[in-house]
Amino acid sequence: MRVYNFAAGPSTLPLSVLETAQKELLDYAGTGMSIMEMSHRGKPFMAVNDEAQALLRELLGIPEEYAVLFVQGGATQQFAAVPLNLMQKGKADYLVTGNFASKAYEEAQKYGDVAIAASSKDKAYTYIPDMKTLKVRDGIDYLHMTHNNTIFGTRITELPEIDAPIVADMSSSILSEEIDVTKFGLIYAGAQKNIAPAGLTIVIVRRDLIGKAAPICPVMLDYAVQAKNDSLYNTPPCFPIYMAMLVFRHIKALGGVKAMQKINEEKAALLYDFIDNSSFYTNRVNPKDRSIMNVPFVSPSEELDAKFVSEAAKAGLVSLKGHRVTGGMRASIYNAMPIEGVRALIDFMKKFEMENK
Ligand SMILES: *Cc1c(COP(=O)(O)O)cnc(C)c1O
Repeated sequence: MRVYNFAAGPSTLPLSVLETAQKELLDYAGTGMSIMEMSHRGKPFMAVNDEAQALLRELLGIPEEYAVLFVQGGATQQFAAVPLNLMQKGKADYLVTGNFASKAYEEAQKYGDVAIAASSKDKAYTYIPDMKTLKVRDGIDYLHMTHNNTIFGTRITELPEIDAPIVADMSSSILSEEIDVTKFGLIYAGAQKNIAPAGLTIVIVRRDLIGKAAPICPVMLDYAVQAKNDSLYNTPPCFPIYMAMLVFRHIKALGGVKAMQKINEEKAALLYDFIDNSSFYTNRVNPKDRSIMNVPFVSPSEELDAKFVSEAAKAGLVSLKGHRVTGGMRASIYNAMPIEGVRALIDFMKKFEMENK
């Protein structure tokens, strides 16, 4: 039996995509082998690589001036790749709004003069700093931000007006809402939240920013090398790229990112409204900064939180335990979580509250 899986990542994938993959697993497109077993330089895989890129360009409206790269190493590898490629003057500012934002900031310090433009650590990362109050220095190569804070359940909805390129980690928000790619110099995202199985990382980068990587930059992390080779410099993560293509087709069939955003906003509103109207559950995030992908919440006590997580799992609602740094619960309601899953969660929350008040 399939459960409703609220895991933060790797996370649930659309059922129809899994079914297609299952159907094609032993014999991909009449080749007599699976997509995992064939050359990445053969025609069938090259077609997958091309279609995946074309669909992502279409879904996000990515202009030709941007390269789209399919790489490995996760979002965490990008914490180093970004400064190694873009810190050409040796200076960058970081917005520290959570755990991953903080890790990105720490990693970048190895490569240059890095400063914090704003932080929300003072209130346990429960809000997004006002974009008008950022301390952005002159002459920086870029400003880095985490678009959606997966652990703390906040998201950036407004961008600062600055001259330097904005670099955004969109691991947990890519394709969940409409964005204007041209407002960013670079966007990166690990695929395992909203796109595909773990192993693939998406990089969308303005072409004029690449080709000037630091001399010590490993060849695998050099965006210009990946762009020149259509992400096939070495063996790519073939199966995750294939799965990403199926997910992109699925999103397109649903009506694209605009339609996806509407469903996501509806799902998030249902859950937040329920929590806000309850005296039993609490979400501590500043309402205007709330994520539509990750919803952390607590019950009146840690004991009840633990009981909630274990009883929910028995009811087929799994992976609701909050991150170890926050405790409590977290429902990750990514693109692939159907609205029925959110309704089932709310029904369970009502029942649990009645029984444990
Ligand atoms: C999950 C996540 C990461 C880490 O991704 P890996 O692919 O495991 O390196 C980084 N940033 C954000 C916003 C995330 O959600």
